[in-house]
Amino acid sequence: MKHVITLIPGDGIGPEISEATVKVIEATGVEIEWDIVNAGADVYEKEGTVLPQKVIDSLKKNKIGIKGPITTPVGTGFRSVNVSMRKLFDMYACVRPCKSFSGVKSKFKDIDLVVIRENTEDLYAGIEFEKGKGETAELIDFIKSKKEIEIRKDSGISIKPISVTGSERIVRFAFEYARNHDRSKVTGVHKANIMKYSDGLFLEVFKKVASEYDDIQSEDRIVDNMCMQLVQKPELYDVLVLPNLYGDIVSDLAAGLVGGLGVAPGGNIGKGIALFEPTHGSAPKYKGLNKVNPTAMMLSAVLMLKYIGEAKAADLLESAIAENISEGRYVTYDLKPDRDDPSAVGTSQFADAIVDKINKAKG
Ligand code: NAD
Repeated sequence: MKHVITLIPGDGIGPEISEATVKVIEATGVEIEWDIVNAGADVYEKEGTVLPQKVIDSLKKNKIGIKGPITTPVGTGFRSVNVSMRKLFDMYACVRPCKSFSGVKSKFKDIDLVVIRENTEDLYAGIEFEKGKGETAELIDFIKSKKEIEIRKDSGISIKPISVTGSERIVRFAFEYARNHDRSKVTGVHKANIMKYSDGLFLEVFKKVASEYDDIQSEDRIVDNMCMQLVQKPELYDVLVLPNLYGDIVSDLAAGLVGGLGVAPGGNIGKGIALFEPTHGSAPKYKGLNKVNPTAMMLSAVLMLKYIGEAKAADLLESAIAENISEGRYVTYDLKPDRDDPSAVGTSQFADAIVDKINKAKG
């Protein structure tokens, strides 16, 4: 069956790592028709918007996409394309597997964690009250009248909504993910001891949903303790599910355990829709240099192939990436013991080495 997939190359290093990724996916033999559309700052100059309608239409139609990173210029009033797409398609789950690869520099070995982050609520809901504004003063007065709590007049305020609906679907997603990916345990992470009505609600929902999954172990951890445990005993953990803010922080912590953002893939998933992307950004200083590491985007493609039911191709690609990194010969500068190693290869040569491995494995 031929899959039609939206490809958003992105900007900065996006187009180079996207080209490398398409090359290795095609080597697996999976039949894909790419619907290539673009978004971001470069598109703005031509089309007057960072997120053209044709990008939205393409993902709406194909329901599955892969994207390179997109720059969010600071202080220009651009809304992040990434955040807009997640909102528009209600992609409520951000899935970030963090797995050790032999050959990638890291203080830790044999890590195999999956961080599942709620993507739509919490302090990231964008409900912000600016210091000194009339509405902020009204909110401060309202809180004083209802709770007898005095908030300083020179405060800015961000609101943290956490709902039963949002918590239930993300926790259920985590348990279903564990079940479908042969994972044995889900840990719910929170700060329910302090934020009783938001994190407390998340924990309550977590426990209720967990009780429906006899085949999967469950436990909960307070987020600060979780961070310490992850650096002390990461082997004790399997799938983690977290509200938005903790999910953001802990997924970078987990990426750090396996060698950093260069090897951390991700997927944003909603009901019947998924967009896969590397965790790192557009690294503008390396744009067009054929220098950066395409592993995170290639591993995002592995997640995508699994999602569309092409498990064999996914395994073929993942093994080829792992083997190439482990051998350490045809790898980018960041995977060499010394970053100035002249034997480091470029992005496209890294992809060629993986294509060779895939072809050999196919025989
Ligand atoms: P970044 O991830 O682009 O770069 C952080 C560091 O990692 C830099 O030193 C960079 O050179 C290095 N790096 C990143 N990817 C690499 C790779 N594949 N191989 C080797 N080295 C790599 O983060 P930043 O500098 O904070 O952000 C740059 C831009 O990217 C910003 O505009 C930001 O908003 C955007 N961004 C986009 C996404 C996305 O599209 N999902 C995610 C994060 C950041």
